[in-house]
Amino acid sequence: MGLLTSALLSLIAASWLLGILRYGRVLLDSWKEPTLLWPVLIVESDDWGPGPLAQAEVLLRLSSLLTRFQDQTGRSAVMTLALQLAAPDRASIRESSCHQYGRVSLSHDDFEPILAAIREGEERGVFAAQLHCLEHFWPAALLAAADTTNAVRAWLLSSEDELTEALPPHLQSRWVDASRLPTRALPAHEISRAATEEVEQFASIIGRRPRVAVPPTFVWNEEVEKSWHRSGVRFVVTPGARYVGRDSDGTLLSDATGIYNGLEAKSGVRYLVRDAYFEPALGHTAEATLESLDRKTRDRRPTLLETHRSNFLGDEQQTERCFRELARLFERALERFPHLRFLTTEELGESIFERDPKLVATGLLPRLSAWLTRAARVRNLRLLFWTTAAGLAFSLLAAWAEMRGMPSP
Ligand SMILES: [Zn+2]
Repeated sequence: MGLLTSALLSLIAASWLLGILRYGRVLLDSWKEPTLLWPVLIVESDDWGPGPLAQAEVLLRLSSLLTRFQDQTGRSAVMTLALQLAAPDRASIRESSCHQYGRVSLSHDDFEPILAAIREGEERGVFAAQLHCLEHFWPAALLAAADTTNAVRAWLLSSEDELTEALPPHLQSRWVDASRLPTRALPAHEISRAATEEVEQFASIIGRRPRVAVPPTFVWNEEVEKSWHRSGVRFVVTPGARYVGRDSDGTLLSDATGIYNGLEAKSGVRYLVRDAYFEPALGHTAEATLESLDRKTRDRRPTLLETHRSNFLGDEQQTERCFRELARLFERALERFPHLRFLTTEELGESIFERDPKLVATGLLPRLSAWLTRAARVRNLRLLFWTTAAGLAFSLLAAWAEMRGMPSP
């Protein structure tokens, strides 16, 4: 072996050593994350619940739209609905001058058209209800904030069906005391009681226990997970991190990052990653969203798209645009990815958990290819792969030249 070749191979070995020291976890996690055989698209929509009855009409229209699109297996497009199960009972809160919290449940007769639309979509197989929360806030924190913030007090006492989306972002977190910033942790026993209560409420309203939970604003902690898991929740949707609070500027603080699909938490729940977005009201187009689907598919990962009910509850022009964009998204996605699969998030989680051979690759080659593609998303690792490939090619060439009796480089 020539001097240059030896030096090159030593350099590659040293680079890998450094790469493993620095990016070992990324390399390992990229390998452990399941490799999907087909592109998967799930539109995850949040916040449906007690509130404007216009939701019922929107849900029926969404259900019809989803039914128009089928994958190659004949499965209709799916939209998951993360539900809020209760809203403030503003009349009783007003009576107590904002000192006593009262709630009105999604099961109240007033909201029957909304529940009926959810059930209709579930029967058609195009909706899948998921647990979002009992309330999209911690009631005691909201009452405390109403004491000091006029806008919050006005929201709470309004005679209209105010959307929780209109509250200040930090107050929309449920599992911390966000009455002021920085947020403070809630007592573990209160979390446990409330997390168990909301699962029971979901079961009583929807008729089955939730298997998938989507933490509001993605702020939650291990205590929440443990209680959910004890009550039957199997999968938690995450953007790839677990946020546990906010600092004095409102910036999210995490205690876990780099979460990947199928990772099992200490609490026993498994995570599914939702880090692509489809909010047409914010200007997201079908084309831009297809880029996310394309990238996720190349990584052999599922595409979970985040969206919210608010896209479809704005003025008429905005609502029409959002419906059009959603239909275009499915049309284009099926054109570009003929093997696209529609699933519910629970089905995806179970397939990953069971390593279902119809969806999850078990062979070494597809796994190796997915591992390389995922790891190469990190610039320095991409550089390492290319220099390794070039270095090995050079060494092989040198070995071949040596065998042929040519002078080694
Ligand atoms: Zn939400």
